[in-house]
Amino acid sequence: MEMTLVLNSSYEPLKVIDWQRAMTLWATGKVEIVEEHEREVRSVSFSFRLPSVVRLLHIVRLRRRPVVQFTRANIYQRDSYTCQYCDVQWTAEDLTFDHVIPVAQGGQRGWENIVTACEPCNRKKGARTPEEAGMTLQRKPRRPLVLAPAVKVTLGIRTPANWMSYLYWHAELES
Ligand SMILES: [Zn+2]
Repeated sequence: MEMTLVLNSSYEPLKVIDWQRAMTLWATGKVEIVEEHEREVRSVSFSFRLPSVVRLLHIVRLRRRPVVQFTRANIYQRDSYTCQYCDVQWTAEDLTFDHVIPVAQGGQRGWENIVTACEPCNRKKGARTPEEAGMTLQRKPRRPLVLAPAVKVTLGIRTPANWMSYLYWHAELES
């Protein structure tokens, strides 16, 4: 099933729908097609490429910003599957979570205090702060603003290449 990314008229990613619904929106003049999939649909009288990205022609007010969920997959994705202490990229099976400030010392369970760490670094750090363990965080952990992981995780699909510029555009502006 080919999916279609729907953008606001201001090119803000809104949601993902199936291509049939996107074609209905297009046929009723609600959207314009911005990017197409490689896949073509043919009938006797016509052929067209499936819409990959469509843009609404009238602005839709967002009630609230979509929030990136605090999940294992999203934490790994935020940290690019990279240990935040040794800066080496690992596979998910070799990664663990680390509370930067240990829970015993008042550390919270949240985006700002949990980072991806490989097992050796996590063992070495133990229940200490980075300062106590003489280890340095590669980057300050933050709540991610990027919409892409949320879209990907919710649907469990791979993001088509031609969605990327729309998904990351706003994130780059905000960082
Ligand atoms: Zn490490």
